[in-house]
Amino acid sequence: LLQLRQVEKSFDGHRVLKRIDLDVAAGEVVVILGPSGCGKSTLLRCLNGLEPIQGGTLLFKGEDLNAGKVPWRVTRQKIGMVFQSYHLFPHMTVLDNILLGPLKVQKRSRREAAADAEKLLSRVGLLDKKNAYPRQLSGGQQQRIAIVRALCMRPEVMLFDEVTAALDPEMVKEVLEVMLDLAREGMTMLIVTHEMRFARAVADRIVFMDGGEICEIAPPDAFFNRPQSGRARQFLNRFF
Ligand code: ATP
Ligand code: MG
Repeated sequence: LLQLRQVEKSFDGHRVLKRIDLDVAAGEVVVILGPSGCGKSTLLRCLNGLEPIQGGTLLFKGEDLNAGKVPWRVTRQKIGMVFQSYHLFPHMTVLDNILLGPLKVQKRSRREAAADAEKLLSRVGLLDKKNAYPRQLSGGQQQRIAIVRALCMRPEVMLFDEVTAALDPEMVKEVLEVMLDLAREGMTMLIVTHEMRFARAVADRIVFMDGGEICEIAPPDAFFNRPQSGRARQFLNRFF
């Protein structure tokens, strides 16, 4: 579904992604691990058009995302992204936050999109909050709403960048559960996380990055039990 070929990204001449090659199949869950500053967020941001790349190609269903044929505004409906901070509009209800994209960008009817939104809200256990305002919700609830908002665009791929990193520990689980549920349903996902148990449980493959490069790609059991590179072993030692 996604193919990255020799992707290069630099900021002011400083190479942050170096010859990144990665294929992600439909329905696959890829977890990206690596030390702070290794380029994980940048990689996801490139896939969402938030950062231009300086070399290589990003293919989505065989289409070059940077060829300029399809505007990123359109691609982002297919490749949804959720961040550490939830960015909900404080003056809008939960339902209106979720419907903003489907109504304004996708021009769907309110009735049809709202039915979709309500189905998703009940899936994450928050249907009763549809008329609440973000400030009335906990961090974990707001993050689940942010996920629903992305899903309501009916994406084919979801990118998650440390979506539980800002949450109090007791709220982390409810957000991870939503992601596990999505994985079971066959959503294609790229996940950056520091939750190692979750990574092991959810991933089909682990991508380990260091210094802007992919050092290892392996199934989770192999990665956690027998990391091949010294850099991966060093990284894992900090968690176990
Ligand atoms: P963390 O685990 O701390 O989130 P990360 O792996 O997500 O780290 P990135 O945020 O992708 O790392 O950053 C990779 C490198 O690119 C870092 O050296 C960072 O300083 C640099 N970088 C990221 N964004 C920018 C930017 N907008 N301008 C300049 N340099 C940047
Ligand atoms: Mg990051």
